Amino acid sequence: MFASQPPPVETCDVCIVGAGIAGLNALFAASRYLSRDQKVILVDRRPRVGGMWVDVYPYVRLHQPHPMFTAGNIEWTLGKDRAYLATKGEVLDHFQHCLDVIRERVQVDEYFGWDFESAQEANGIVRVTCSATDDRMLVIKAKRLIKAYGLGVTPNEPLDISSARVHSVSPDYCDVRAGEMRESDTPVWIIGGGKTAMDTAHALITTYPGRQVNLVAGQGTFFSKRDTLLPSGTRRWWKGAPPSAVAAQLSRRYAARTKLTSGVGTGPPMARS
Ligand SMILES: Cc1cc2nc3c(=O)[nH]c(=O)nc-3n(C[C@H](O)[C@H](O)[C@H](O)COP(=O)(O)OP(=O)(O)OC[C@H]3O[C@@H](n4cnc5c(N)ncnc54)[C@H](O)[C@@H]3O)c2cc1C
Repeated sequence: MFASQPPPVETCDVCIVGAGIAGLNALFAASRYLSRDQKVILVDRRPRVGGMWVDVYPYVRLHQPHPMFTAGNIEWTLGKDRAYLATKGEVLDHFQHCLDVIRERVQVDEYFGWDFESAQEANGIVRVTCSATDDRMLVIKAKRLIKAYGLGVTPNEPLDISSARVHSVSPDYCDVRAGEMRESDTPVWIIGGGKTAMDTAHALITTYPGRQVNLVAGQGTFFSKRDTLLPSGTRRWWKGAPPSAVAAQLSRRYAARTKLTSGVGTGPPMARS
């Protein structure tokens, strides 16, 4: 019997686990403190940078002015008005752009397809153990470890539906623009008024202009017009909803809801806008 080989060991100044928006912001901040000859190792179990945006349904749109969704102060190269809702592809391109910009300041080694297993700290060094899907192991010795993998929430699978006329959409599944939906022109009813429902409505309206699309949004759903909430240019000095008005509107809904569900004390779920 041969003893199994010890795993290869990599060393770096900072190891960041998670290559989503949180990980890239951590990387951006680290790049401000490190010099060009120092090294960051970026680990993610997904095959590329982008976090949940890599696997989410294809017609997802970014629901805030895209310049706000970035690493540090890195600017978008899209050249579109800030109110434009960036597509999945554009968001992923921006992630890659951020990584390229950061790489000009500090050395970044990517370990995509690697799962963070554990970390032990001793003598000022963190020993990070990672595994790959083919059972290979890797040890990273780092002066600092940043865990930027969020809450590790796994999206639900779509619901099991007994009727072929009803589709269930989950964050990682279902392109409503294809298949049976394309072959029919019957009205569509979308149940739910959150982010996925709004993306689905937008995808259907733009793919099938003129088709009847209905949204059944619950009482707690809250939408705000982005251009009113966050006006751009000089308009931001004289237009837009004052934060106090938004807060008052929110609290009124909270009060109404708590009255209805007396004793429960939960606030209304909010849809991003
Ligand atoms: C359908 C949908 C639409 C959304 N739309 C918006 C929006 O328009 N605007 C907005 O601001 N937010 C939106 N969000 C919220 C979204 O979660 C955030 O925008 C943001 O992408 C989260 O970034 P994150 O870096 O915290 O997490 P993630 O993007 O989840 O990144 C965490 C990364 O860590 C990796 N990871 C986790 N555990 C490990 C491990 N053990 N080893 C290795 N890697 C690991 C994961 O693979 C992942 O790539 C949306 C979410 C969903 C589901």
